[in-house]
This record gives sequence, C-alpha cells and structure tokens, in this order.
Amino acid sequence: MKAALLTRLPSPSLEIQTVPLPDIPPDGIEVTVEACGVCGTDLHILNGASYRPVLPFVMGHEPVGVVSKGPRELMGRRVVPSIFVGCGRCDPCRAGDERLCAQGPLVTGVLGPWGGFAEKMWLYPSQPVVVPEGLSPWVAAALVDAGATAHNAATLALHRQPRRVVVLGGGPVGFLTASILRSQGSEVVVVEPNILRRDLLISRGYDTLIRLDQADPTPSSVVVDCSGVPEAFLAALNWLPTHGCCLIVGYSEVPRVDFAIVSRKELIFKGVRSGRRDDLIAVLELAQRRAIDVPPVTTWPLEHINDALSALQSGQVAGKAVITVNNAIRHEC
Ligand SMILES: [Zn+2]
Ligand SMILES: [Zn+2]
Repeated sequence: MKAALLTRLPSPSLEIQTVPLPDIPPDGIEVTVEACGVCGTDLHILNGASYRPVLPFVMGHEPVGVVSKGPRELMGRRVVPSIFVGCGRCDPCRAGDERLCAQGPLVTGVLGPWGGFAEKMWLYPSQPVVVPEGLSPWVAAALVDAGATAHNAATLALHRQPRRVVVLGGGPVGFLTASILRSQGSEVVVVEPNILRRDLLISRGYDTLIRLDQADPTPSSVVVDCSGVPEAFLAALNWLPTHGCCLIVGYSEVPRVDFAIVSRKELIFKGVRSGRRDDLIAVLELAQRRAIDVPPVTTWPLEHINDALSALQSGQVAGKAVITVNNAIRHEC
C-alpha cells in the first residue's frame, strides 16, 4: 500500500513509500482509507515535541474509510475510529474513558497502531463507529478527533452553567467547541489572533476578539483554551474572575507559572483529553442533523501531504486540513 511514512524524529516531512500493511490481529478490521484529517498533534509529533511512536510509523489519527475486511455487519460501511484503545480492565476503561487508561492507551495513528495517512489501515473491534448517512468523508474526518474533543469540552463547559463561554483559539477544535455551545443556546466569544481564522468565524456569525483582555471578565465565565499556546494559558490565568474556570484542551508547556494567582482567586483548571466514543457518536449526529456548523475543509491528496503540513504549520489553513486517499480528488467545501 502507498503510505506517508514517518522515518525519523524530529523530521521536517513524511516520505511517500510503498509498504506492506502491518499484520492484522485475528479480530482486526481492515479499512480502506478515504480521507484523514491533519491535526496540530501531527505537527508536534514531527517536531519531536510530542508522542514518539516506534519508527517507521504511519501517522493520521482522524481517518475515515470503508471496511474492507471484518465482521459481515460492517463490510462496506463507512466508519471512523474511536482512536483510543485501553487495557479494558482499569477503572477509567470500565467507565468508557479508554483515553485515560491507567496503563496508558494505544492511540491509532499516534502511538501503536498505524493511522490513516495510507491506503489501508486496521482497527480493533472496539473502535469503529459507523458514519451517519449523508456525511461526506471530508466532513467526517474533520470530526474524528477535533469533533469528539470539542463535544467533550463543550459538555464540560455547560456543566458549569456559564453566563458566557470564551473559547481561546479558533482552529478546528475551537471552532467546533464554539459551534456546539452555540447550538445549545450558550453565549460564546472566540479569541483568535490569526486573521484568516477570525474572518472565517465572523463570516459564520461568531463574536470574535483578537485578545482575551478585550473581553469583560463576567462572573461565571468559563474559558476553554483550545489554542495550545502558553500565552493564552497565562492570559486566562490573569483574566479569569474569582472562582473562574479554565478547561485546558490544547496543551502547551508553560514556563514559570505563579500559582499564587490560582489560590488568590480560587480558580479551577480542568484538563480535557480528546473525547469519549459517545462524544464522537454525538458530534457525528449533530453534524448530520446540520445542528452544528462544521469548519470548511481543504483537501490535499496523500502524495502532497507535505504541502498540507507546511500550510498548516504556517497558519494558512483557516478551517480543517484533510488528506484524501484512494481516488484522491482536489476538493474544497
Ligand atoms: Zn488530534
Ligand atoms: Zn485501562
């Protein structure tokens, strides 16, 4: 199969090569990939600043494809994976939180099983989720990780019954978080310094700001940090009112944080790691019903994956970057 191979770390690019599909376990499900989203985590892996999979490796943790070998009820169905595979025995796994597995989960396309930047891949039986009718592979790809994460973050934000939610970062996760919150009737404002992304949000009717300090720190505000940049985290720390809450969705290394301010205001910081399988199912259903706005998708064929990575790295993609595989077509929607 043709695949974009990660052969060293750090690495500026991936190598298009023909390689055999790795051995599929007896109960594994073979998927013929149609598309796969590109995520900020892919860039961090390439930079050597994140997960370190065994090399060579095929990244791509937002795949969509058609089941080509597996149980009869799934044959020919379009599926996306719930990407985390846990031990199945620890408390988090038994509660449906495989992504928080005490043993450290495998993550398809990130750590362990190869991902979707290839013509074929395989999944564990616990992973496939059937894509609802009417959703294109490109839209489904935009939701696999970004959508599940946004659904988890938006649900946690709503639990706090905020008067207003401030989303930091208007990339795909921030966009989808704002979109889900808006669909639930929540007042939401997105802070995004990148003009391409801000213009896109404005065109879809969102309130936006360039910097967090332009917003009034209304009591019972919740900040959802989807930016992954240290400056945003520090701005939230200073801006949040007493008993304010920040959900940390995109994480970064923040040097020399003074936690005195956390105590003085009794702030709450809560981490968000991707989403549950249920979040993925819910966000696919919201998108199918057109209840949420999905970021526009720009696609690149697998052969040109390095162009997609550089466009993303240099902040030239306002919506979601998606790689098309098998019958690749250039497509914008
Ligand atoms: Zn991701
Ligand atoms: Zn576990």
